[in-house]
Amino acid sequence: MKWTDDRGGNVEDRRGLGGSGAIVGGGLGTLIIAAIVFFLGGDPSSILSSGMGNSSPQTEQRELNANEKKIGEMVDMMGKWNIITWNQIFKENGMNYTPPKIVLFENTTQSGCGTAQSAMGPFYCPADQTVYMDMSFFNELQQRFGAQVTEFTVAYVLAHEVGHHVQTLLGTTQKVDALRRSGRYSEADMNRVSVATELQADFYAGVWARQTDNREKILEPGDIEAAIEAAQAVGDDNIQKRSQGYVDQESFTHGSSAQRKEWFMKGYNTGDIRQGDTFNQLLR
Ligand SMILES: [Zn+2]
Repeated sequence: MKWTDDRGGNVEDRRGLGGSGAIVGGGLGTLIIAAIVFFLGGDPSSILSSGMGNSSPQTEQRELNANEKKIGEMVDMMGKWNIITWNQIFKENGMNYTPPKIVLFENTTQSGCGTAQSAMGPFYCPADQTVYMDMSFFNELQQRFGAQVTEFTVAYVLAHEVGHHVQTLLGTTQKVDALRRSGRYSEADMNRVSVATELQADFYAGVWARQTDNREKILEPGDIEAAIEAAQAVGDDNIQKRSQGYVDQESFTHGSSAQRKEWFMKGYNTGDIRQGDTFNQLLR
């Protein structure tokens, strides 16, 4: 992926700051986290219990190394290109875009949705309209899920989380939350809603990639393949096969590997947000 160091992506880098970062979690915010936005899938209940005000080890303040600094610069650049691209798309559709904040952290940090921990993977918190990313997720993606990780992998994951921000600006997040709170739907039904939500975020990431490449010429051979590989690696069927040895489609919350590839590519190939109605296509 081609990029220049021209920042302005609304990034706050909390890496290397030290301190325990521990706060009291739980409450409404944690429920919101559990309700939406994990990139990696997994069981929200384990997050709920882990977020309940546990203190974490005090860490020393430290200088970021050259590679960590470079990744921070790149995320900032991608943040800026998300702002420019979504500004444009919203304007074309007669709306105003307000960008999310992006927080880079390590170990644990405070979020508007409770305590953020590395194990949660990157997520978006609607309450403070902020994307939280711990870069150790990408090591896990490579080592545990066998995906090659490139700069564009990071860009895709960020774009997926910004996709959840777009859903919040468009009111989709709130509608899904209302469905969940109504208590009128079974867990299996809500899982299907969750899959539609996640696949739409993948779709938006594809739209972003297409429109940003049209303008900035960022893509190099292999970049789209790397994004697809990451999307497939964290497909529910792949995660379940690796973690429990079998696949249970009813419990999918993010979509299968094939669906994640399909919707990212649909966004990339069309570049048109109006083609991304995963809800009507998947919930009939
Ligand atoms: Zn997601």
